[in-house]
Amino acid sequence: MGSETQVKIAEQFYSIQGESSFAGYPCFFIRFADCNLRCTYCDTRYAYEDDHPLFSISQILAELQKYPGAIVEVTGGEPLLQKGVYPLLEKLLAAGRTVLLETNGSLSLTDVPRDVVRIMDMKCPGSGMHEQMDFDNFDLLDPKDEIKFVMGSRDDYNWAVQLVSAYGLQNKATVTFSPVTSKLSPATLADWILEDNLPVRLRLQLHTIIWPGKTKGY
Ligand code: SF4
Repeated sequence: MGSETQVKIAEQFYSIQGESSFAGYPCFFIRFADCNLRCTYCDTRYAYEDDHPLFSISQILAELQKYPGAIVEVTGGEPLLQKGVYPLLEKLLAAGRTVLLETNGSLSLTDVPRDVVRIMDMKCPGSGMHEQMDFDNFDLLDPKDEIKFVMGSRDDYNWAVQLVSAYGLQNKATVTFSPVTSKLSPATLADWILEDNLPVRLRLQLHTIIWPGKTKGY
């Protein structure tokens, strides 16, 4: 394997993309290990609580070749914690794939290749992590990118609405609002969005509808 770049990966799997503008497409997911945040509602704690192996970029690309038509999503954990993510993203693009990067909003997007669809998770107050967000990232986004707010309460919603308005986020990228469904019903969030006539998209986790109760590899 020599000196080839390696990255620590929690899991790789093939599934349906569930929560972006690409929702519904077959997708190869590369879930990076480790995270610098600890969101109250985190459903991927195994990404940072368990031990995970190193993979070379060549090994990941070889696995990807099993799924020739798939888009690719690099997610976590938090993928931008590992410098090896950048050459991996370049190689995925060079392989002709549509590449999505989901990042937790706390780390700079400066070095992410522009052709990658950047999905920036905005952590609302209910996550306990909202003060970690890097608002400078807003100016690095373009219309193909997405800003995703996951919310569990009216307070979260109000915080997100204020940010969308203050920064004109709907003019920078697609803005999506998603409910933490154990705390906020999709119908309630839909009503709020309609009442306020917001320029945002309601987003549900498609994979939780297809595979209710499944907690990994979807
Ligand atoms: S950023 Fe994602 S992986 Fe990290 S703690 Fe929050 S929900 Fe979990």
